[in-house]
Amino acid sequence: MYRKNVWLEKQNSYEQIMNFAEDYKKFLNISKTEREFVTNSVVLLRRAGYLNLNEVSSIKAGDKVYLVNRDKNVIAFTIGKKPLKDGLHILGAHVDSPRLDVKQNPLYERGDFVYLDTHYYGGIKKYQWVTIPLALHGVVYLTNNTKIELIIGERDDDPILGISDLLIHLSKDQLQKNAREVIGGEDLDVTLGNIPLKGVDKEPIKNFVLRFLKEKYALEEEDFVSAELEIVPAIKARDYGLDRSMVAAYGHDDKVCAYMCLRAELETTDKEYTSCLFLVDKEEIGSVGATGAHSVFFFNSIAKVAEKLGAPDPYFYAKKALENSRALSCDVSAGEDPLYPGTSDEKNGSHLGYGLTFNKYTGSGGKGGSNDANAEFVAYLRNIMNENNICYQTAELGKVDQGGGGTIAYIFANHNMEVIDSGVGVLSMHSPMEIISKADLYEGFMGYRAFLKAK
Ligand code: MN
Ligand code: MN
Repeated sequence: MYRKNVWLEKQNSYEQIMNFAEDYKKFLNISKTEREFVTNSVVLLRRAGYLNLNEVSSIKAGDKVYLVNRDKNVIAFTIGKKPLKDGLHILGAHVDSPRLDVKQNPLYERGDFVYLDTHYYGGIKKYQWVTIPLALHGVVYLTNNTKIELIIGERDDDPILGISDLLIHLSKDQLQKNAREVIGGEDLDVTLGNIPLKGVDKEPIKNFVLRFLKEKYALEEEDFVSAELEIVPAIKARDYGLDRSMVAAYGHDDKVCAYMCLRAELETTDKEYTSCLFLVDKEEIGSVGATGAHSVFFFNSIAKVAEKLGAPDPYFYAKKALENSRALSCDVSAGEDPLYPGTSDEKNGSHLGYGLTFNKYTGSGGKGGSNDANAEFVAYLRNIMNENNICYQTAELGKVDQGGGGTIAYIFANHNMEVIDSGVGVLSMHSPMEIISKADLYEGFMGYRAFLKAK
């Protein structure tokens, strides 16, 4: 069988594997939201000489450019030696992760506490989000359009936030409920404070917090209306396991693939085909919105590249270019977890430590919602992986009737290009602390580089 263990196959790469994981952990710790990930990606792109495509009048082979969409979506290109109409080699990944979003009218006082009401984003097991340290990240726009950026709960001397759970001693009724209902969506309210403001009769605790927000951040209660605030786990990426073989962190889905793609784009020289790095938002809620994969931003960006390359009819030219393109929809796969047997077909699952995973199809039931890659394209990739000595495996997302999931592959496929899902296996996906293998992380980066370099 073609599945090989990276740790055994690549013993000489042990140092590189460990060092790459250190870089990833550092990047992830400052990139917990889609906005932060995009901002930090642009820092690396600019440092590597990428220019904003809107600020250059023309481009040629070898040039490196990028575009940012609403601070939540970035696309970068290296112009290849071949003409653009021969197609691009595209790496796409999403930078949003499941979390709790702060509602627009969130503050309320009950009992002796003031709370922040939230609305969860993406698919979560709600019971996993109580009694863990939480942090608040995001932006608020004041009425005068001043932008306030908030990160509370990440520094060691910051307070953390959190959601309480009922004590076990009084949980007789609660524990009768099923896991879906034991904590409801409206129960996920974050505790903000407990001190009453002196001399205030009505909502004294809420008023104390409001005074704090006013003094510290110049925020009024009404400013939550024009805010995007996200509640995320206040945990740092850490080595996992005595052998430090894995990384535990919030947001591997899909920041791990986004990071592998970013590094592959940055560190691949001599590209034959024009490369495209596409980091996108809103995948966890259906790739909707102006910053999601369905947005015309992607196509318009390709057209803009065609225009700056001098194509007479850039929109038509971009359509041809995309039809000849090849894409990897880079997203995490369900890692085989021996503690939960029976949910997957082990021989068709993603095994941690066995390298880059290719999912010919995702979807659920009878492959519903999947793009189902062409055998011809799988053969093309298989050859690239073999020629470059990359450990890879194929996988499905669990047993046929057990559930399923989708990615952005089918959206790429709508342009009539070749596309397949590819990523690394994750344990505890969508939980506040997801697990990946360092070996898979490094091997994925190497595999993506090989794809960008391919002739
Ligand atoms: Mn994902
Ligand atoms: Mn996901």
